[in-house]
Amino acid sequence: MSSSAMPPEDELPVIAFANRLPVRRTRNSWRLSDGGLVSALQPAMRSRGGIWVGWDGGTQTPREVPGLDFELRPVSLSRREVDAYYHGFANRTLWPLLHGLVEQPTFDRFSWDVYRRVNEHFADVDDPSQPGLRWVHDYHLLLLPGLLRRREALGRIGFFLHVPFPPPEVFARLPWRASVLEGMLGADVVSFHTQRYRGNFLRTCAQLLDDVRVDGTIVRLHDGRVVRTAAHPISIDAADLANRARTANVERALDGLRTQFAPRRLLLGVDRLDYTKGIPERLRAIELLLEMRPELRRWITFVQVAVPSRGEIREYRDLRAHVEQLVGRINGRFTEPGLDVPVHYLYRGVTADRLLAYYRAADVCLVTPLQDGMNLVAKEYVTVQDATAGAGALVLSEFTGAIEELRQALPCNPFDIEGLAGTISLALELDEEDRRRRLAKMAATIRAHDVYAWLDEELAATPAPKLVRTA
Ligand code: UDP
Repeated sequence: MSSSAMPPEDELPVIAFANRLPVRRTRNSWRLSDGGLVSALQPAMRSRGGIWVGWDGGTQTPREVPGLDFELRPVSLSRREVDAYYHGFANRTLWPLLHGLVEQPTFDRFSWDVYRRVNEHFADVDDPSQPGLRWVHDYHLLLLPGLLRRREALGRIGFFLHVPFPPPEVFARLPWRASVLEGMLGADVVSFHTQRYRGNFLRTCAQLLDDVRVDGTIVRLHDGRVVRTAAHPISIDAADLANRARTANVERALDGLRTQFAPRRLLLGVDRLDYTKGIPERLRAIELLLEMRPELRRWITFVQVAVPSRGEIREYRDLRAHVEQLVGRINGRFTEPGLDVPVHYLYRGVTADRLLAYYRAADVCLVTPLQDGMNLVAKEYVTVQDATAGAGALVLSEFTGAIEELRQALPCNPFDIEGLAGTISLALELDEEDRRRRLAKMAATIRAHDVYAWLDEELAATPAPKLVRTA
């Protein structure tokens, strides 16, 4: 096939590869799942059409679902494969490694072998002769770009990493580091959320691979191929969120929260229960604050929504026990007779409307991860507050991707418990005009770079797409 017979690159269908398929089974039909990746990719899949390749989660997922504008291509995995690839190598090796060792990664040869095999299963369901923009997502599929390239897939291959990329001295610990880097370099473009992660990746390639040359922001391979890198921060559908934050259902839920918590000021944390999120550190800072400023014991409430996550993994179960012990300790120490507890802990997800009501009700949102690729909760909180004439304050960890855009947040180092307590105190005292000014600037930044801007950047045609099969 000649390149002239091909549609222009920006009209090619998108072939997305992600760990999971974007649908879930309801009683008698299939529906689009809720997750962040699904809502981020959905507009592109809708406008360009295409295929979504992903693990079927052990269900018999059909290739076509009514109302879905793209095809599903399920990858089936055995229970042993899921254990070793997903719970093992992806979540016990790569997740802590890429998050800068906030937990110890396990290095286990068997999980690595299965990870490699599962990446091959993903490549096996692809038809390399089908022209498309192959768009591989995240740390579960680091080897896939290289596998697709080896099969001479027709069209550009893009890779996007949704988590951080650590500095070379951290990544160097991985026994299979060269294979993983070579897998990623199978893509034409390797993208990250931030310049920092991109810089880490480039320095890692330069230091750990012998046969490549890093030239500014591109990597030149020994066979003459050039891999570009990019920094494209993911975002939210800000306009849609602003509208949804003003519906009658949200107003009703908000009234309920105000009645429940008034006259206290509300502090909010919303996270998956993950050791990267800094929830124990946040609780210890609240504890210190209540110790230092006894008058706050009756004037603030901290609500922590902790969405259950990865309960199959020991570190996550230990974290849950630790968090629950801290909540118990704080409430035991500081609840005054006849009054409400200072910490409300919800070990569950909440509905979309209720989450929006919490965002509206919160005077301060505490986003204090020890390490976080981006953090969408921060962007959602700012957008909702600004859209509903709120005057909330955002405390934001220096170790999130979001800090690079949300410059007017109150920055914090979550490892510094005293410093964090001080920043929370400052957030409670900031004057209202100041808070509104900060919110307005941050909301404008988010609007200007929403999820559609991210999609445009990611899917923009590359200068030198290679659409001709070389074989
Ligand atoms: N979220 C949700 N239900 C909840 C709490 C949170 O759907 O009960 C959503 C939240 O709106 C956000 C996402 O979960 O879009 C969390 O994304 P973030 O980037 O903050 O963290 P991640 O979980 O991806 O590490």
